[in-house]
Amino acid sequence: MFNNYAVIDEKLKILSGSMEFFKFVGTLTFDSLLSKINDNDIQFFKDTITDLINDGTKKEISIELIDDDGTNRPCYIILSPLNDFGERKTFLLNVYDIKQTVEDVSVLKRRTELLQMTVDPDKNIVFEYTPTNDHMYIYRCSSLNAYTIYDGSLSDWSDFILKNKKTAPESETAFHMFISDLKRNAGVINSEISLDLFNDGSVKPYIIEGFRIVDNTSVQMTGGTISYKDITNRADILTDFTYDYMTGVLDKRSIVKYAKDRIETRTNQSVILAILDLDFFKDVNDVLGHSTGDSVIIEFSKIISSCIKDAGAVGRFGGDEFMVILDNVSDVAQIKEYFKAIRITTERAFKKIGTKTMNVTTSIGVVPADNLEDDISYGHMFQIADACLYMAKEYGRNRYIIYDDRSKKLLRIDGNVTHGKFEKNPQSSKYVMSLTQRLFDEGVNAIEPTIHDISEKYGIDNIVIYLKDGEEYKPQYIYGNVEDGKKNIDYIFADDYFNKFDENGCMVVFGTASLEMRMPNVYRLMREQSINACIHYLMKKGDELIGVISYEICLDPSRYWQDYEIFTLVILSQIMSLVIQNDQKSRV
Ligand code: GH3
Ligand code: MG
Repeated sequence: MFNNYAVIDEKLKILSGSMEFFKFVGTLTFDSLLSKINDNDIQFFKDTITDLINDGTKKEISIELIDDDGTNRPCYIILSPLNDFGERKTFLLNVYDIKQTVEDVSVLKRRTELLQMTVDPDKNIVFEYTPTNDHMYIYRCSSLNAYTIYDGSLSDWSDFILKNKKTAPESETAFHMFISDLKRNAGVINSEISLDLFNDGSVKPYIIEGFRIVDNTSVQMTGGTISYKDITNRADILTDFTYDYMTGVLDKRSIVKYAKDRIETRTNQSVILAILDLDFFKDVNDVLGHSTGDSVIIEFSKIISSCIKDAGAVGRFGGDEFMVILDNVSDVAQIKEYFKAIRITTERAFKKIGTKTMNVTTSIGVVPADNLEDDISYGHMFQIADACLYMAKEYGRNRYIIYDDRSKKLLRIDGNVTHGKFEKNPQSSKYVMSLTQRLFDEGVNAIEPTIHDISEKYGIDNIVIYLKDGEEYKPQYIYGNVEDGKKNIDYIFADDYFNKFDENGCMVVFGTASLEMRMPNVYRLMREQSINACIHYLMKKGDELIGVISYEICLDPSRYWQDYEIFTLVILSQIMSLVIQNDQKSRV
């Protein structure tokens, strides 16, 4: 029951809360909370809130809540005004099941106090130590989502920290003192320790403060907060922020506010803006239903928060799209580490959902302000991050693209950010029509400029048209970076490849690697030509195979071919095939 809490404002709008709370209340209005309260207690509950808002002091009441199965459950409720109660009048509501917790109400009260402190983003790590079983629990409330840093025996934790040298050398003594203070039930904990709290290789200075909770005569718990010491002015700008009700991270309005603030007040330190979107998320909704979809979004938000930790802020932009601002990171290697961690953790987390293999991953577009030459505004950074995200999707998803000199070239950035290859709404039919016209007007003379154009437009490394020459198929038109004499389509006839073409004479390979087991010869022959993904089109005259068009991706490890791309390439292939056949006919 501990995680059952919510933050509510004076207009009785639920701003945020724990997952447990939302699971219990269902939807997210104050009315739905009221509907969970026994009729006899509703007025009392409302009056208590009115009192709280008027006098700003903490209230403790017990009322009956209605459980999912309709039974009444006596609950102990603590309503506490939050730190910024002065101007904002928000309060924290904690619900405890009396039956479950009646024995240690004092512990609960203390926990509520701790939780209250965690709402202050400067003090967002909490520890609780229970001496009777040597249990240490360290967790962090990231935008009010508690997640565990350590949960186990204190002795094990301290052994781990000391053995692996997780404290700064000068903090080792202070760490020993902290552990022994806990174990001997010292009344007050007050330490400054530099340590690698998250076990991620970064040693940071923390201030640890805590108190002992005594119930009658026995010590129940020692608990307190662990705060990152050199917080700059983050607290100032985190005030007046609202949270996304579903995930608990900042909502769109707030993350944009945060981003603008960080970008505009940027001095020496860099600001990095990133947009993250889940890949193939719709499949989760379609296959497993919306509520599983919701929990995937929630889990994804937790992954992002836990990966970026104190380096910045996370917000939900909408749907399966999130924004991250890093304002505490300097070099590119570090930036990569953050997004790599998010990418890998997401890939692992959603490979399987329940019993279904889903392969939900994440694509990320990242823009470090330092990589922009001019116009370092929020709007411009957002546009470019969005274009990079789109490019990441195009290149096969499950990757991050950091805006740098290479992507600059690919995006062909000019005043309007991007055009050409990575247009968001390719007007395929218009494009096809313009090329068709030219092919009809100029015949085979238009083939070379056409494949050149297609290659540029869709970012296809090589396009090769093979034509039958005696018993062999030889490259006749080539665009791309191809070594003389190296190109062949022998693989078309190896293994079972040829039989797998569809009724349009088309074969789409997203990743050559997928052929390694099933068609080892095809795989080997394609790899000899560095083909990592491809589309093949069979040019046919009746039943006779007169040639093959090969669209090849070589620089990237795989390619998620979009439907519109496949469609466009097939149509253009058909037309090129016609034009070539006409030419052959006219020569005979
Ligand atoms: P892509 O790799 O191209 O991103 O494919 P995708 O399937 O992830 O597609 P897209 O990002 O465009 O789709 C997001 C979908 O998320 C659309 C919408 O139906 C669904 N969605 C939006 N908000 C929510 C939500 O709060 N809960 C659930 N379950 N689904 C949502
Ligand atoms: Mg998506």
